[in-house]
Amino acid sequence: MLVEPERTPYDLRFRVLRFPVRVHPWFWIANALMGSRLLDIGPEFLLTWVAVVFVSILVHELGHAIAFRLFGTDAEIVLYAFGGLAIPWATVSGRWRRIIVSLAGPFAGFLLCGLVYGSNQAFEWAGPRSSLVVLYAYGSLIFVNLIWGFVNLLPVFPLDGGQVSRELCIKFWGRRGQRISLQISFGCALLLVAYSIFCVMDQRGAGAGFTDQLPSWVPTGTVYTAILFGVLAYQSYQLLQRIEWTDTHWDDRVPWER
Ligand SMILES: [Zn+2]
Repeated sequence: MLVEPERTPYDLRFRVLRFPVRVHPWFWIANALMGSRLLDIGPEFLLTWVAVVFVSILVHELGHAIAFRLFGTDAEIVLYAFGGLAIPWATVSGRWRRIIVSLAGPFAGFLLCGLVYGSNQAFEWAGPRSSLVVLYAYGSLIFVNLIWGFVNLLPVFPLDGGQVSRELCIKFWGRRGQRISLQISFGCALLLVAYSIFCVMDQRGAGAGFTDQLPSWVPTGTVYTAILFGVLAYQSYQLLQRIEWTDTHWDDRVPWER
């Protein structure tokens, strides 16, 4: 499902901790588009936004890659339009190891968040006398790593939390686990679509101002999250249909051997 994006002559290639990293040109375009409103304040804010996303996704994927290396296989990191991938050279055997690999991405982000916060507590590089761009870089590093970490932990396939949920469901329910984890994924994704649409309507004045009363740390849904989870809900639904088809057609395949 997560297909590696094609190689292009415009790929940026380098190594971090000996892991090969490839940045697809769409990575820059998609993130610049996502932050294009920042151009109204100044191009330096847009550049800071793209840099923050680049560092944050790279650190997230490095978390997965380091966990892969810990379990005996190195990985290649690819950054593309919809985020990042850590592609291992070989599969990791062992359910708990695969769960650790999945969790390592979001937790690398939380660690970065802690380092940014801790270094500012110690040296106050983003304080009242800092420039607006530095304050923006600080705020968005914290925000992006916290929020994306939590979003990635949702039990929605193919996010990291969805992988963990599938491993756990198969452990507890065996063959039925795959289907149960997809049902959870479908349900959660639909709930997030509903929440996102509700937030957007509420902010456009159709609601009772519910989102204004939420604490500032509760993320509100946007048009983007509605589309993202809509696509993920549809993917889970399709996978669910496929599983149900093989379940019901299993016996029909070779009736004479029953
Ligand atoms: Zn991840």
